[in-house]
Amino acid sequence: MRLRNVPGARDVIAESRFTIKNETEYKGKWNTVFGNDNPVHIEIGMGKGQFIMTLAARNPEINYVGIEKYSSVLLRALEKQEQEELPNIYFIRMEAEYIADVFGEGEVDRIYLNFSDPWPKDRHAKRRLTSQAFLDRYEKLLKRDGHVIFKTDNRELFDFSMEQAEQAPRWKILNYTYDLHHSEYVQGNVMTEYETRFVEKGNAICRMELAREV
Ligand code: SAH
Repeated sequence: MRLRNVPGARDVIAESRFTIKNETEYKGKWNTVFGNDNPVHIEIGMGKGQFIMTLAARNPEINYVGIEKYSSVLLRALEKQEQEELPNIYFIRMEAEYIADVFGEGEVDRIYLNFSDPWPKDRHAKRRLTSQAFLDRYEKLLKRDGHVIFKTDNRELFDFSMEQAEQAPRWKILNYTYDLHHSEYVQGNVMTEYETRFVEKGNAICRMELAREV
């Protein structure tokens, strides 16, 4: 999601009490950030944050961390959080490639990926958030039996993601659908900004759930 560059966004993020600065310092110590030992769920590429903030409001017994690389987008989530002041969510502005420097082994219970950038060129396949390269990173921080839940309307990216998960030795595909909104998995589904837009256009939404087996 690219918005017009918002002047001053970086400064707002640097000063916000809801963002984590020096995020690598909390590796293995996220319980000190939240002040409890509740499970940690993260969303990578959270955009403006509608999805993860809805979850945080619904599930006070879960700790959430929203990750987004663009300041202008993250700023929108911070504006919402200024109003809502949810105690169980923090945000990090960072590139997801370095995620294993931020969370310790088994520290994360669940990873959400929603409408991740497709990176259609073959030579950029490693940048896709469901590539083997990223699954290897997730393995370092996800609890055994922890899940990755991925939604997209991009069938090419979805098929690629299925292949990557099938080939990955320590991952299994628990379930998937090519049409979330006409499937059993729609129960309790929380819409993202992109999802709302694509559903309005009539696009089918694909969803898969992966588990780290060992
Ligand atoms: N999840 C939101 C936004 C989807 S657009 C929704 O469903 O509405 C994808 C978002 O992921 C963009 O905001 C983009 O900046 C972010 N993103 C993509 N690759 C990323 C990466 N490697 N690290 C961090 N954020 C990333």
